[in-house]
Amino acid sequence: MSNTDPAGVDRGQPLYNVVNNDKKRVAYFYDSDIGNYAYVTGHPMKPHRIRLAHSLVMNYNIYKYLEIYRAKPAVFAEMTQFHTDEYIDFLQKVTPDNMDNFMREQGKYNVGDDCPVFDGLFEFCGISAGGSMEGAARLNRQKCDIAVNWAGGLHHAKKSEASGFCYVNDIVLAIIELLRFKKRVLYIDIDVHHGDGVEEAFYTTDRVMTVSFHKYGEYFPGTGELRDIGIGPGKNYAVNFPLRDGIDDASYKTIFEPVIDAVMQYYQPEAVVLQCGGDSLSGDRLGCFNLSMHGHANCVNFVRSFNLPTLVLGGGGYTMRNVARTWAYETGRLVGVEMDSTLPYNEYYDYYGPDYELDVRSSNMENANSYEYLEKIKIAVIENLKKTAPVPSVQMQDVPRHGLGLTDEEEAELDDLNEDENKDVRMTQRQWEKSIARQDEYEDSDDEDMAHANGVHKTNGRTRRSILDYRNPHAADMDMDSGMATPVRNGDGPAEEAQEADETMVDDDLADEPQTETADKDDEVAKEAAIINDDDGDVDMDEAGDEPQETAIKSEDVDALPSPQLERRRTPVADTSRGSPDAESPKENNKSAAASPPASANGDGPQAVEESVEVSDKMEMDDRGGSKDADDEGSPSEAQRS
Ligand SMILES: [Zn+2]
Repeated sequence: MSNTDPAGVDRGQPLYNVVNNDKKRVAYFYDSDIGNYAYVTGHPMKPHRIRLAHSLVMNYNIYKYLEIYRAKPAVFAEMTQFHTDEYIDFLQKVTPDNMDNFMREQGKYNVGDDCPVFDGLFEFCGISAGGSMEGAARLNRQKCDIAVNWAGGLHHAKKSEASGFCYVNDIVLAIIELLRFKKRVLYIDIDVHHGDGVEEAFYTTDRVMTVSFHKYGEYFPGTGELRDIGIGPGKNYAVNFPLRDGIDDASYKTIFEPVIDAVMQYYQPEAVVLQCGGDSLSGDRLGCFNLSMHGHANCVNFVRSFNLPTLVLGGGGYTMRNVARTWAYETGRLVGVEMDSTLPYNEYYDYYGPDYELDVRSSNMENANSYEYLEKIKIAVIENLKKTAPVPSVQMQDVPRHGLGLTDEEEAELDDLNEDENKDVRMTQRQWEKSIARQDEYEDSDDEDMAHANGVHKTNGRTRRSILDYRNPHAADMDMDSGMATPVRNGDGPAEEAQEADETMVDDDLADEPQTETADKDDEVAKEAAIINDDDGDVDMDEAGDEPQETAIKSEDVDALPSPQLERRRTPVADTSRGSPDAESPKENNKSAAASPPASANGDGPQAVEESVEVSDKMEMDDRGGSKDADDEGSPSEAQRS
């Protein structure tokens, strides 16, 4: 009897088994507000999926192995370390009520169809980016080995443009954070879509290598060819593995592992950012791959095995229950446990019928990726990787890259040499590199001309593709096959698309807000007690002086940063938060894990849905330094929530 859960399932089996005893410290970022945000009615991107995943993590008792944090939402001054002031200013101002006054801006910033204006848009972006940035900051300070933010991974957002359901690129912001301490950062993207926003941001630098495995050909966003390898100092530091429909676990493994092996060997990154988009799973509403949960998680586990500081992020994923299953399972693998295949009872149990199993299985869809095709691309990719050796830090130390210290004559000589070698392009590599260092001085149009001359394919603008142009014709059928009963609604989730009418969206919308029961009280008590915190009870990264890593990168290295974003990073904005190497912490708080409940501020969000008690609500972990708040005037994110 005591082994039977509320759903009547025999729980004789343990919820998980420990399979890996290396005891990595895993920081997990979750803001219980995230599930309350909703794009617009019928939109396939549902932040609610993160709440589903979190619920599984909690009910599988994985929380015992996690340090769970609620990050402080990123603010304007942080977002503009990558994005333009004008764009973020627009995101901050625009609401469904006033959007008609921003028609011109909506067009300019690609806000509308794929990326609609919705209530709390800016706060949503802040939560997503805050978790990723804070995860990066913790990794920088060696406060954890792995940081997880399933609300992050929004890889399509551009410097001044929304794209593919993404507005603020939390990944780029997190990588910029990592670059304060790490010489080389590796970005890996297993979303079904090309990681174009991240690639573009670091296309001209060797300090970040971007590696994206994605569907290519008649698919959003249209970039990510094999031959797109980066430019200037970034040449060969962008890696693209274009794939066809239906790739399965076995095929994916035969390309992913050797490519990542080679990347690690030749690039030798000091930190890794892994985007775990769940739309590469079989049966995804917008996807076209055929990975099972285990095939997807194999990538996570493989990256984990390199024992590098790793930031694990979410991303796409439009069949909510499968995304939740997979991200929960991957959280388990990150802490070294293998979860039982039978789902524990949880407040969203109805989503997982009729089998109530953890697994996301492959289907019998055809794999359009032949062995020969995959081998050919794999060999080409690895050949390119070999050209990156020796690792760039060696070059950076030996050879000043930006004409620093050269006389005018020497500069001219080098320019001539470059022109001789590059007669067919308008701008030589060297000129390009120099221009990058001063990119902020150029007009946008000049930027684009230069980019075009150097092979950057701009896919947006007049010919923007829509991520919604490509839907999985098989997904809906599979969902119907699931036989899932329409859950009873609570009736307290007005923004949760109660009036959903779009048939193409039918599966998950039917499942929105099923009738739930609050998790067992005793469980909750146990969970609260289990929340771990670091010594000082916060996630303040401004603890300069006690971390050997901080001195690892000398200021000269920082000066050699080739990317314009990184130049901006060194403006005072950057020093106000998250642990600049030379920033003294203005305050060292000692908040206990369960001290003050931001929960009281919850539920007032624009689309508040009464949720069952969640552990993270008991915690206030975040304090990234007081001075940042000074930059936060005009940010409504805090004010609106309290
Ligand atoms: Zn995607």
